[in-house]
Amino acid sequence: MNPAEVARLLGRILPTVQKPGRYTGGELNQTVKDWSAVDTRVALAFPDIYDLGMSNLGLAILYDILNHEADVLAERVYLPWNDMEAAMRRAELPLYSLESKHPVADFDILGISLPYESLYTNTLNLLDLAGIPLYQKSRTKEHPLVVAGGHAALNPEPMAAFIDAFVIGEGEEVILEIVRTYNKWKAREKPRETLLQALAQIWGVYVPSLYEAHYLEDGTLSHIEALTEKAPIPVLKRIVPKLPPPLTRFIVPFIDVTHNRVPIEIMRGCTRGCRFCQAGMITRPVRQRSVEEILNAVEKALAQTGFEEVGLLSLSSSDYEPILDLVRVINERFAGRHLNVSLPSLRIETFSAELMESLKDSSRRSGFTLAPEAATERMREIINKPVSTEQLLETAREIFSRGWHTIKLYFMIGHPSETIEDVQAIVDLCKAVLKEGRRIIGKRAQVNAGVSTFVPKPHTPFQWVPVDATDQIEAKQALLKRELRGPGLKLNWNNPEETLLEAWLSRGDRRMGKVIFRAWQLGAKFDAWQEHFRYDLWLQAFDDAGLNFYFYTQRERPIDETFPWDHIDAAVKKQFLTEDYLWSLEGRTRLDCRERCFACGILPKYADLRRKYPGETWECPEVRSPRSRSHAKTHLATPA
Ligand code: SF4
Repeated sequence: MNPAEVARLLGRILPTVQKPGRYTGGELNQTVKDWSAVDTRVALAFPDIYDLGMSNLGLAILYDILNHEADVLAERVYLPWNDMEAAMRRAELPLYSLESKHPVADFDILGISLPYESLYTNTLNLLDLAGIPLYQKSRTKEHPLVVAGGHAALNPEPMAAFIDAFVIGEGEEVILEIVRTYNKWKAREKPRETLLQALAQIWGVYVPSLYEAHYLEDGTLSHIEALTEKAPIPVLKRIVPKLPPPLTRFIVPFIDVTHNRVPIEIMRGCTRGCRFCQAGMITRPVRQRSVEEILNAVEKALAQTGFEEVGLLSLSSSDYEPILDLVRVINERFAGRHLNVSLPSLRIETFSAELMESLKDSSRRSGFTLAPEAATERMREIINKPVSTEQLLETAREIFSRGWHTIKLYFMIGHPSETIEDVQAIVDLCKAVLKEGRRIIGKRAQVNAGVSTFVPKPHTPFQWVPVDATDQIEAKQALLKRELRGPGLKLNWNNPEETLLEAWLSRGDRRMGKVIFRAWQLGAKFDAWQEHFRYDLWLQAFDDAGLNFYFYTQRERPIDETFPWDHIDAAVKKQFLTEDYLWSLEGRTRLDCRERCFACGILPKYADLRRKYPGETWECPEVRSPRSRSHAKTHLATPA
């Protein structure tokens, strides 16, 4: 089908569906290039609807990088909502790109963002709507190369059967290497296998079909075998030594989307070492942007988009070293412009309230968010988020005193070794915070507790631990629902069955692909949408695939178990994670590694890169070259 036919069918369909602005393209700042004037066409897809996908910063960055190349074009693809999907299937309209309306199957490369696991059935649906064979082994030279990346790709195995190549780590540099490799291959008319082998040579690219998984009799993984010399083991995470200048030319949607703001990443990586946090482990090392670079980007992005809000993004904004300078200069430079600045992920300290007040941000309306994650000091030591209860109450007092009425507190239940008393402590802590608020501002004080259930993730110190069983989660939630009620208190919680899905998929192995495929066949999609999630379909899919879901969630893994993601090197050593897990069992905490390096593995893995970009890179201690070693006595630890 050509773009003119796609446009003709859209003209008929769009008046019949909700929010047609999701499907038209044509927004301010989109890039439309001449299809016939470029060598490589890349479709960048987010496997959920436009409203969510438009806020995905990773895809926006890749779109910009690719479209800066004269011989490449990149266009956007999102999943249609149910009404549009039904209309497209009825009209036999294939999935198409928003910019030129070319069918996705006509592109050379399809890049899919996989930030979280509940997008897996959507990914299959996306391939199906595009008319691309779901299984990578069924694709020929005529089909696009299907590449996926994002945090979920750090355990690529559950989706190994469906994806040609995964990007492990940061995509800014590797994306162009993939395009160049693809081009060379296309010019030579070689079999698809040749392309896959060439891709596997690129640092940070994992081609799952070049590996085979072997299992032991008890169902655990024995090892992953590389089927060719061209397939490296392990596959090391790609990083950029220095963050490139921030993106400023954002596409401005016609309709309301999840975040109508300019997102500027101020810092990447985190040194705090919270043991449950996958992002904190897999995005190391810390790299910061300069205040000047951020300010210039904000200025430029506002001028190019007309947005009135800026999100200064990072995993832990208070850890951005020049945060005070940044806030001060933003206030000076944008005074009188009614700019709304949000600074998510602040630490639990009174300084956070001061910071937010100086930004005069919109949290005064929506509430001030703190994430203690656990309610007792014992539990916060186990998860390595050591904050005292008194410190938390002091911060709460500061927040109420500075004019906020609502504090949102985020917790998780199901941390390792949690007892019902630890859950009761969530109730007690919320009530204690409310009491402080009442004392300071009276009945206007409000505490909203958000309680999710902990899901152990690959590449974290908690990758060995089981997930709470459904009845345990329900008992803990029942206590919270019973006790956390009354004036000034509100509770939000997650459906335990959705938690289990995330848990199955995040630590799944290659066999999980059969379950995902079967669940999709049975009708599972939009699993991240509460109203669409069908737990019964997933249970049947496990049954039909002959797999036991308890194996993936309720089992405490032996310390020496080989994991399905062990051949994917996130640069933090398994030995470090093991030690940290054992420390957690003893309630031992680790300092922020800016204060003391714990030799997590990052430094030796990227030592060459760091030598290549001296003084420009990240916050770990200096790498010692053999010649300078004798002068390096001040370093706190020898990175190993
Ligand atoms: S090498 Fe040291 S300073 Fe760097 S991330 Fe690891 S523990 Fe932190």
